[in-house]
Parts: sequence; C-alpha cells; structure tokens
Amino acid sequence: MQLTRETFGQLDDQDVDLYTIANGNGLVVGLTNYGGIITSIKTPDHQGMLENIVLGYDSLEKYKDDSRYMGCLIGRYANRISRGTFQIDGMKYQLACNDGANHLHGGAEGFNKKIWQAQPVREPRGCGVVLSYTSPDGEEGYPGTIDVQVFYLVTADNGLLIEYKAATDIKTIINLTQHSYFNLSGGGTIHEHLLRINASGYTPVDSDYLPTGILKSVDNSSFDFRAERQIGQAMSDLSSVDLRGGGFDHNFVLDYGNEKGLSAAHLYDPLSGRTMDVFTSQPGLQFYTGNFLTEAEHGRGGIPLCKHGGLCLEGQHFPDSPNQRAFPSVILEAGHLYHHITHYQFGVRDNDE
Ligand code: BGC
Repeated sequence: MQLTRETFGQLDDQDVDLYTIANGNGLVVGLTNYGGIITSIKTPDHQGMLENIVLGYDSLEKYKDDSRYMGCLIGRYANRISRGTFQIDGMKYQLACNDGANHLHGGAEGFNKKIWQAQPVREPRGCGVVLSYTSPDGEEGYPGTIDVQVFYLVTADNGLLIEYKAATDIKTIINLTQHSYFNLSGGGTIHEHLLRINASGYTPVDSDYLPTGILKSVDNSSFDFRAERQIGQAMSDLSSVDLRGGGFDHNFVLDYGNEKGLSAAHLYDPLSGRTMDVFTSQPGLQFYTGNFLTEAEHGRGGIPLCKHGGLCLEGQHFPDSPNQRAFPSVILEAGHLYHHITHYQFGVRDNDE
C-alpha cells in the first residue's frame, strides 16, 4: 500500500492537502481534508484498464464553489429536515434553511465546506486517512459540541471502507453520509448501469422531497430493485409524480444492509464490466440519480457535467427523521458513541454472469 500527500491549495491561510492511496491491486483513491471530499477513485475494468469512476473537479477552488455536494462528507444531518426545525425533550431548535424553506445536508456551511484535521493511518483493515472535526455548539443551529472522526481506509481487496464516529456533550441529532457520484463507465450517463437494492420498502416524498412519513412497500412498483434492473429503464417506468425530481431521489429502507456477505446494493456497468457493492450499517440508502447536474457546470478536465452523469448511493438514516416518529431515531446522547460503517467494494463481472 502506498500513501502520498501533496498540497491541494490554500484556504483561509490554511494548507489543504490531497492524499492518494494506492493498494497495489488496482485501486487508487484520492481524497482531501477539505470537506472530506473523495476527488477520485480509479478501478480496473474487465480488461484491467484504470478509469476514474467518481465525478469531480480539478481544483480546490472548484470544490469550494461547488453546490452539488460533489464527493464530500455530509453533516451534521444528511438530506432534508422539514422547515429546518425539530424538538428534543420539548426544546425547539431552528437550523439554517438552505433548500427553499428546508434544511439540506447540514445547512449553509456544512461539514462539506470545513477543513478537517487529517492523519494518515495504517491498520490491518487497510491504509488511509482519519479526518477529525469539532463542530461547535450552535453551528448551523444544531445543539451540542460534537467531535467527529471519519476513517477512509483503502483495503487490499479493492474496497473503500468509511467509518464514522461522533460524540456529543449534550443530547443532539446526527446523520452522516458520503456524497460521491459514481459512474462506473467513467463518462456518459448511468442509464445503462444495472442496480440491485436489497430494500423492500422506501420512504415516498412530497413536492419538496420531504418524506411523507409513510414506509411504503416496493411491491409492484418502479421502486422494486430487489432483482437487478437497468436504471434508465427503471426511470422511464417512474410515474410522473415520482419523476418530478427528474429521476430517482429516494431513501430506500434496507432489509439487510449490515449482514455480512450480502450487500445493501450492487451496481454493475455492462460496458466496462465494473461492479460496486455497498455494505452499510445504516438503516437507509439514498439513491439519487444526479437529477440536478447540468451541462452549464464543468467537471474534471473542463468537461461539462450532465443530468444522470453520476449516481449517489448514500448509506444514511432516513430524511427528516427528527420529525417522523415512525423512523429510526437519530438522537445521540452525551456519553454515547455514534458509529457507522459504509463499505464500497469494487470489482468486475463478466457479461454472462
Ligand atoms: C439529495 C438530493 C439533493 C442532492 C444535492 C442528494 O443527497 O437526495 O435531493 O438535491 O443530494 O446534491
């Protein structure tokens, strides 16, 4: 395993670094301590050709200006909180509202815009970087000072393991995730990718993409990904109401996300033969098909982004959980450890498998 560090740029008089971790077995991951952003993931195709399979930009400045949450860590709360408000023990809190009238992905300046402390790590599990950030009480309106640690570890067998840990001094809410946009072909759209998600339920949303609070079965619907389906086909099967976001942008209720040997999701690109399995300890998986990406914005190499040019599979707690009693709790108490792991496993598959 090889880990190198170089300067990525400067922000607020601080150096921001770019780390590259190569496992010697075909996986090369680039990441920066600005926003915990994964800048690149190179994996071999069925002929051994390396290609970058995540969307991104060339410079720190572009990441600083990005509003698509390209490749970054999301916190304190992934996805939306209705009206940016919630209660804990009868006390009402008001968060920053940065998505119309609602709170999205941690607010106006979430964890994706912070400079994290970084420390290279070598472990039996893999080699990588541990990022640390202390979010002060009241940041973006959230209660409690929280200490967050995120481990990014590249494994010997072409996996990327992301481990989240957090502790608070007073009762608060938390929901961390990672927002990489994957495109296993390394270009074009994700329409021809095939996807399986081990979820027999999902959380329908309203016109603001907020959950209605219902846990709905995927039976006989376009949300049934329990058997592998082509994403473009699945999108064309969506009803006009479900398509209003321009594709999938939904939280799936995982059946067995954490059981060893069975992934929460399996993504396969027949063009390159590349596969990605997602294992997660989280109860939900946000499947987002990059609906808001447009050609007006340019990515790596100045190449225009495009709608459906990448997809996110974000292990997470359900959106707006603080306001939904039927959803698993996102409360973190003082003295308790928030702990989740999401593991992306890369591979190749032959067409006839
Ligand atoms: C959300 C989308 C949001 C996007 C921002 C996704 O995680 O599900 O609704 O627009 O992040 O890039």
